[in-house]
Amino acid sequence: VEVWLQSLQKSEKAQIIIGARSALFLPFNDLGLIVIDEEHEQTFKQSDPAPRFHARDSAVILAHYHKAKVLLGSATPSIETYFNVQNRKYGIVELTQRFSNVLMPEIELIDLKDKYFRKKMQGHFSDVLINHIAEALALGEQVILFQNRRGYSPVLECITCGNVPECPHCDVSLTYHKHKNQLRCHYCGYSIAKPTHCQVCSSIDLTTKGFGTEQIQQEVQALFPSAKVGRMDQDTTRGKFGFEKIIDSFSNREMDILVGTQMIAKGLDFDNVNLVGIMNADNMLYHPDFRAYERSFQMLMQVAGRAGRSEKRGKVLIQTYNPNHNTIQQVTNNDYLGMYKEQLY
Ligand SMILES: [Zn+2]
Ligand SMILES: [Zn+2]
Ligand SMILES: [Zn+2]
Repeated sequence: VEVWLQSLQKSEKAQIIIGARSALFLPFNDLGLIVIDEEHEQTFKQSDPAPRFHARDSAVILAHYHKAKVLLGSATPSIETYFNVQNRKYGIVELTQRFSNVLMPEIELIDLKDKYFRKKMQGHFSDVLINHIAEALALGEQVILFQNRRGYSPVLECITCGNVPECPHCDVSLTYHKHKNQLRCHYCGYSIAKPTHCQVCSSIDLTTKGFGTEQIQQEVQALFPSAKVGRMDQDTTRGKFGFEKIIDSFSNREMDILVGTQMIAKGLDFDNVNLVGIMNADNMLYHPDFRAYERSFQMLMQVAGRAGRSEKRGKVLIQTYNPNHNTIQQVTNNDYLGMYKEQLY
C-alpha cells in the first residue's frame, strides 16, 4: 500500500520502482520508462491464479497508453520480440561483446549413443565429463552440473539410440500415461499403446523414468567422494531465503560442485566456475510443447553463460543423444539467427 500511495502521489521516494509482474498494476502518474530484463522468461506469463496475463506484453501496452518507452533486455530474445524487431516495430541495440570482454565459453558435445555403446558411461556421466570435473577440482575451481526438472511430462525414451516417439500430426513428443499404459499427444489427443521396442533401432531398452538432480548429486558424490556437492532445485530451495543460502554458500566456495535445475540459469555470476556440464540436453528438446526448441536454445545458452565469467575462458560440456540436432548445433555455434529462422520457417 505504501508504494501504491507513493506511486499515486508521484512521491520523490518512488521515482524508480522495482517490482514483479504485479508492479504493472500500480497507479502510475507520470510513467516514462519500463525496463524488462530477461524478457524471454516464460515466467512473465501468469496463468495461475487469475488474472491471466503476460507481464511483458501488458507492459508494452501500458507504456503505449502513457507514451512511455520500453526496454526489453535478453541475451536470447523470444521469437516474437525478435520478430517485432525484424518488422521494425521495435528498435534494436546489440551488445556484441560480453561484459569486460570475457570470451564466450567453448562448447563441446558428447554423443551419449556412442558413449553407451562403447561402455564409457558411469551412471549418467561420460568419461569426458568425469575427466573435466576431476581437472577442475584439482585446480580448485568449482563446477556446475545442470539437469532439467523431471517428472513434469514423462516421455518414452530409447536408452540405445535416444529416440522419443512423436505425434505424427503435431511435431511434439508423446506423453506417457501410466494408468492406461499408452502414449498420448497433449495437443490433438492422438494415442497409441506403449510400444515394446524402439521404432528406430528396435531396441527393447526403453525407459519412461528420466532422472533428476537428486540422482545426479548421488552419482557425482560417489565419483568424487571428497568433493562437497550441493543441490539447487525445488526441494532444496523451499523456505525463506532457501535460494539465497545456496547461492551464498556456493559463492563463498563452501561447495565444489553445484547440481541444479533451470534455477541456476538465471543470470547468476560465479567467478570461480569455468566448467558447466549439461547432463542431458535432450529432455528439453522432447518437451511436448511447440516452443520446445526455442526454449531449449534459450535455456542451454543461459546455462552455458554460467561458465567462465572471469579472465579464463569457460568450458561447457553438453551430453546428448542428438549432437547433430539443429538446435544443439545452433547452441554450439552461438547461432541465434539460425534458431530464429528455423523456428519461424
Ligand atoms: Zn532406439
Ligand atoms: Zn496427459
Ligand atoms: Zn498431436
